[in-house]
Amino acid sequence: MIVNKFGGTSVGSGERMINVAHIIQREQTDTDTTPVVIVSAMSGVTNALRQAARTAAGGDPTTFRTIRQELQRRHQEAIAVCTADAVEATNLAAEITALLDWLETLCQSIYTLGELTPRGLDAVSGLGERLSARLVAAAMRGAGMSAEAVEASELIVTDGVFGSASPLMEQTAAKSRARLHPLCEAGTVPVVTGFIGATEDGVLTTLGRGSSDYSATILGNCLQADEVWIWTDVNGVMTADPRIVSNARTLDTISYGEVAELSFFGAKVLHPRTIQPVAELNIPVRVLNSLEPDNPGTIICGEISSEPLIKGITAIRDLSIITVAGVGMQGVPGVAGRVFSSVATSGTSILMITQSSSEQAICFVVRTDETESALEHVRAELELELMRGDLQRVDSQDNVSIIAIVGAGMLGHPGIASRVFGALAYDGINILSIAQGSSEYNLSLVVAEEHVDDSVRAIHRQFELGDPDAQERGI
Ligand code: ADP
Ligand code: ASP
Ligand code: MG
Repeated sequence: MIVNKFGGTSVGSGERMINVAHIIQREQTDTDTTPVVIVSAMSGVTNALRQAARTAAGGDPTTFRTIRQELQRRHQEAIAVCTADAVEATNLAAEITALLDWLETLCQSIYTLGELTPRGLDAVSGLGERLSARLVAAAMRGAGMSAEAVEASELIVTDGVFGSASPLMEQTAAKSRARLHPLCEAGTVPVVTGFIGATEDGVLTTLGRGSSDYSATILGNCLQADEVWIWTDVNGVMTADPRIVSNARTLDTISYGEVAELSFFGAKVLHPRTIQPVAELNIPVRVLNSLEPDNPGTIICGEISSEPLIKGITAIRDLSIITVAGVGMQGVPGVAGRVFSSVATSGTSILMITQSSSEQAICFVVRTDETESALEHVRAELELELMRGDLQRVDSQDNVSIIAIVGAGMLGHPGIASRVFGALAYDGINILSIAQGSSEYNLSLVVAEEHVDDSVRAIHRQFELGDPDAQERGI
């Protein structure tokens, strides 16, 4: 059995939904089994919903109503295209209206209270998938298939960390098998909402922005799928973000470990948590293009190949480097441990620990929106040492980015780092810091945000990643 996930662009209009129905219809015929489908919200809808909730909380009584009207219009338009049957269209329109009425009431309460809790934001954010799943199921029925929309809050049981919930796998496996196996056995395609789950008490949660990919691999694991297919708007995992590097190339294969690094360091094509549930069971993942369904895409599997040496280059933005420095640093016992545990207490995750060449210092990289809180905690922890003058600085530099160069064969291969540094030096780009490889697959450096795109392009060009022949020659 195959779990298929379709992203926001792939379900972005009535026509696209019909396209999804045709892809699944063909798959059902070809494999003679009924696949499971996971869908994202129509493109842009999650952002619009979050804007509705945020503006309401900020005291704006009109924007959420305008957004509601726009969402109604967009889904109505899609219904008109994807359902042939008048009764089905009327029923579906009534269902969509009821869900959007609920949105408006919820935003009205948020407006009245002047407060938006993480729980409230999840309830609003998850509505887009609840709408799109109903429409895609209807598009499938319109194409003559049997299909049913299923809310993942019935299947994926999570902890209560709103905005970034984690699945409780045993309970999720029991619920998803009980609910989905009978549908598939009867030939009915379950069209499941991505992105959302619910706590044991049934309160709606989300798994994090862009996490429908993760929903798919969670269900892939729980249903012990043969494969998980992630349908998106490019031909697979590429050597770089095609919006930055015009000759970025699609990779035929990549290992779990490598793609996990690429997605952790910003490659939007897969959510960073996607790989873990499938790697555990060695379930292959394919990344495919819903607009070019015959393109073979990229296969992600457990096999690690050191060819080509470099699989991809990616960048993560909106970061800050925090530096803790002082001449007396060496005399302060356990300082690194205290710095990192105080950052952990602030709830901030450290993306990278870097080396500083010039002084006695500990440097680490965090997201800029978490910098203030991390600084506060570190300063409080080291108050005495700062007062005594053992440490002179606990400060941050904003507007920096991490560039990650990923490839399993890379680190055992001499000369890669010097070529990377040479390529950047040639373009006059200053490297602020070199990171200790967070894994054996990754060489990372920090540059000023203004140089990110040029850095990615320079390294891509240096290793000729856009040229498949160069890759075969082992360059
Ligand atoms: P979906 O809505 O299908 O989940 P996303 O927009 O989340 O799609 O992810 C696909 C996009 O990721 C592509 O359109 C591409 O612009 C971007 N992207 C960034 N880095 C990469 C990469 N290394 N390989 C492929 N796509 C990438
Ligand atoms: N719709 C959600 C988001 O935009 C989840 C997803 O698309 O994967 O974050
Ligand atoms: Mg995505």
